[in-house]
Parts: sequence; structure tokens; C-alpha cells
Amino acid sequence: MILISSLLVSDKMNLKLRCEDYGFECEFVLDEEKSIVELKKFRDHFEEEHGIDYTIEAVTQMITNRGHSLDSIKK
Ligand SMILES: [Zn+2]
Repeated sequence: MILISSLLVSDKMNLKLRCEDYGFECEFVLDEEKSIVELKKFRDHFEEEHGIDYTIEAVTQMITNRGHSLDSIKK
């Protein structure tokens, strides 16, 4: 129950994205209002720092896989 309620709360708060949570040895963290703009920044970081050209759809999938609903991500 604690897990579920924290996911619901996180839908209304900033989304903290840690690069290391996605398998990189990297200190990069984004902590911003959850939005497509934030996902694009994360995507750009992967490309610029790690040379991985993810699509925005792939990054969105990574976020939704963690329990964030698509509807909660501001366009
Ligand atoms: Zn990184």
C-alpha cells in the first residue's frame, strides 16, 4: 500500500530521473516538473553524454515502465 500511494503522489510532483537508475555510471539527475520537456532533456543527456540516440518514445516508455502514467506527463 505504501508503494501504491507513493506512486500516486509522485504523479503530482516533480519527477526525479537519475541516469544511474537506467544502467549508467553517471551522476546526472533531473528533478523537474514531469513533462515532455523533462523527458527530452533526459533524452538529450543520453545522446550527448553516452552517445545513445533514444527516441522520445523510448524514454517515455522507460518512465511509464516505472509506474508513471502517460496521462500524468505534461505535453
Ligand atoms: Zn548520464
